[in-house]
Amino acid sequence: MSDNATIYYDDDAQSDYITDKTVAVLGYGSQGHAHALNLADSGVDVVVGLHEGSSSRDAAREDGLRVATPREAAADADVVVMLVPDTVQPAVFEDIADELEAGNTLMFAHGFNVHYNQIRPPEDVDVTMIAPKSPGHLVRRNFEAGEGTPGLLAIYRDATGEARQEALAYAQAIGCTRAGVIETSFREETETDLFGEQAVLCGGITALIKGGYETLVEAGYSPEMAYFECLNEMKLIVDLFYEGGLAEMWNSVSDTAEYGGLTRGEEIVDDHVRENMQGILEGVQNGEFAREWIAENQAGRPSYTQRRQAEMEHDIEEVGAQLRSLFAWAEEEADRTPKPPA
Ligand code: NAD
Ligand code: MG
Ligand code: MG
Ligand code: MG
Ligand code: MG
Repeated sequence: MSDNATIYYDDDAQSDYITDKTVAVLGYGSQGHAHALNLADSGVDVVVGLHEGSSSRDAAREDGLRVATPREAAADADVVVMLVPDTVQPAVFEDIADELEAGNTLMFAHGFNVHYNQIRPPEDVDVTMIAPKSPGHLVRRNFEAGEGTPGLLAIYRDATGEARQEALAYAQAIGCTRAGVIETSFREETETDLFGEQAVLCGGITALIKGGYETLVEAGYSPEMAYFECLNEMKLIVDLFYEGGLAEMWNSVSDTAEYGGLTRGEEIVDDHVRENMQGILEGVQNGEFAREWIAENQAGRPSYTQRRQAEMEHDIEEVGAQLRSLFAWAEEEADRTPKPPA
């Protein structure tokens, strides 16, 4: 750990900072359902806030939870958690803002709207973040298995002096302190999240895969071979990173692969690519990306829709769909093996 990292565990949390309160979970998607169910199982009074026509209402009721409109839920609650999609949050906030009383808390699982001033919570309300570093179904599954999901904690505003204790108790109630909760800020969480998904995790890796695939196919190699080498094998490599870092991958591949990778990797991600990364980071830091994405949403997502369509029509998707169907036996095999409760 870096010298200045603060990590919290179960012992750092006092449950009554959250069990004494009513929590309104707004949204019942990936994170919402997991937070609501884990909180309820931890003895917290939970109300799920969903608008009248929401298709999630039945699901939340069937799971045994109390359901109200976002406004009613916020009126009832001491702590309001924003777990609707980030692009929808500003409108939901407008709807519930009048129900936030002095001393209440507005919580988030991602800092975008607060950091880029799309939501301006009242000065007398605590503003905090507990962000599990996992999709919601794992947050729920780990909790039910008695395990935890690592998470982030951030305090944007501590109006009551109790914001950190309350956030920690919330993190404990959804299982995060079982695994460890790292303290960050809204700014750091938002900017590193956006940079990571743009430069490395979503943008960088897909561009690298497509670039490798196209290079091989244009040189006359078969699309099937190009798919296996540039996309399919990515999972094996990433699994090794996940288990044991870069070292585990380097140790597991052949010496030839290791030497080739060590000598040629920096030729691919060269100074020019590093400069591009710097540019991406600047666009995140100065708000240019946020402004572009907000305007794109206001315009009905024309560029997003068009790019998404083009991505789905890339040759690699066609050959991939055919090849993956050859592996259908592997999934059927997995279906027959017992799974932990979903
Ligand atoms: P989601 O898309 O899975 O679910 C959102 C839910 O909000 C829907 O199921 C529905 O109940 C409700 N909803 C959808 N559209 C709505 C509308 N127009 N009006 C009102 N309600 C609507 O969202 P998510 O992925 O759980 O994201 C929630 C928050 O958690 C976001 O801030 C996100 O950045 C953050 N987060 C997500 C993950 C993840 O892995 N999914 C991880 C960490 C943090
Ligand atoms: Mg209230
Ligand atoms: Mg409070
Ligand atoms: Mg993100
Ligand atoms: Mg190979």
